[in-house]
Amino acid sequence: MKIPVVVIGAGACGLTAALAAKDAGQEVLVLERDATPSGSTALSSGFVPAAPTRFQRGDDSAELMFSDVQRKNHGQADAKLVQAVCRASGPAIEWLADTHGVPFQLVEGFLYPGHSVERMHSVPEKTGSALMGYLVNASKGIDLLTSARVSHVDEKSVQFERPDGSEESVEYDALVLACSGFGGNAAMVREHIPEVAGALYFGHAGNQGDAVRWGAKLGAAIRDMSGYQGHGSVATPQNILVTWALMTEGGIQVNADGQRFSNEHLGYSEQCVPVLQQPGGAAWCIYDERLHQLGMTFPDYRDAQDAGAVKMNPSLPRLEETLEKVRQYASGGQDPFGRDFSKKPTLVPPYYGIKVTGALFHTQGGLVVDEQARVLDSSGKPIPKLFAGGGAACGISGPHAGGYLSGNGLLTAIVLGRIAGATASASLYPR
Ligand SMILES: Cc1cc2nc3c(=O)[nH]c(=O)nc-3n(C[C@H](O)[C@H](O)[C@H](O)COP(=O)(O)OP(=O)(O)OC[C@H]3O[C@@H](n4cnc5c(N)ncnc54)[C@H](O)[C@@H]3O)c2cc1C
Repeated sequence: MKIPVVVIGAGACGLTAALAAKDAGQEVLVLERDATPSGSTALSSGFVPAAPTRFQRGDDSAELMFSDVQRKNHGQADAKLVQAVCRASGPAIEWLADTHGVPFQLVEGFLYPGHSVERMHSVPEKTGSALMGYLVNASKGIDLLTSARVSHVDEKSVQFERPDGSEESVEYDALVLACSGFGGNAAMVREHIPEVAGALYFGHAGNQGDAVRWGAKLGAAIRDMSGYQGHGSVATPQNILVTWALMTEGGIQVNADGQRFSNEHLGYSEQCVPVLQQPGGAAWCIYDERLHQLGMTFPDYRDAQDAGAVKMNPSLPRLEETLEKVRQYASGGQDPFGRDFSKKPTLVPPYYGIKVTGALFHTQGGLVVDEQARVLDSSGKPIPKLFAGGGAACGISGPHAGGYLSGNGLLTAIVLGRIAGATASASLYPR
């Protein structure tokens, strides 16, 4: 069997690549290891940054988005790639909305750390599983083979295993690696990101680092393997994501002694390790009724509430003292961690609290790709017929957790997925 465009992985990246290849008139086959496509995409909040789009209200531009991404990663990502991804972001979201019926809208009411303006887009349900539902729906008519775990890739073909243990193979003219990163592979996490080796992994278990392994065998350059998206706010023991909007809009994090330990406004990704370093590997998000109401607009937070994670007036030693200090920082005092408390309303009783831990969400390092999502070798030359995007490719966050600007994950999944599908198709003879 020979198929012009083969895509491995049916998350946001793989399905977007397949849609782009189909739009370009190519025959495409998607191979997915799970019985039902979900990936980390379905576990995510489903928020995708893009600029400019017609859904946005204020002024925004690909240039402003580029500078936000680069400021967060301290200029440590490939500037040309970041520029290409930012420029293609608005058109990608509008294409998914207009051509493929994904009902994107602007996420309003708060900014994630590092975003200059509101540019997060989500489907009305505000969940990654709903986003996946729309993408799968849009992909009807594309050959999607589930329960097909790819076990081997070479220059010409891919081999995959079926649930009964049988092996099949397919030849390709162009191959898109969209099978994400290595967060589900404990040995690889230990090797490349030891600081989160013991942390909860909150992404898709099937993401085993296959793309990196196959790519390396085919001569691909690999970069930023220590980069990742962490999170410092997963309700424990319920394991439910607690929106960071609670922090950006005025909440604080304290440890079991009721003491702050960091600047919560740097970002949720870099907060993973400081939270893990607190007694018991846990912290408390502390906020008030105003923020509780904001939280209730997020499906995850409502789940946390239903699961009993949200506590009224949590009893923690020295919490009152900490809250008094925060009030002083808001009225002119200097926070030793450098956070500016003057911009948001101060917290008022009754207080709310959720016990949280730090988690690894997904890895950011991977195959080096160029602006056309072509996988490059160590001399910077494209490897024939090989494309990658999303978690399979080296992202735009640099080599540290702190370089992850909220949304970099789905941004590179959707935008590089679209570019990969289009470039892969263009590399073949038009049908
Ligand atoms: C809790 C959580 C919240 C998040 N929230 C956001 C957010 O709001 N915004 C944002 O931008 N990012 C977010 N992210 C990150 C985002 O989910 C990922 O960056 C994105 O989903 C990656 O997309 P992908 O298509 O590359 O990978 P995935 O969606 O993980 O898809 C990869 C697919 O490949 C399949 N696969 C793997 N190996 C094989 C194989 N050998 N053979 C066949 N198939 C294979 C997997 O089964 C999977 O279906 C979040 C992540 C988590 C965990």
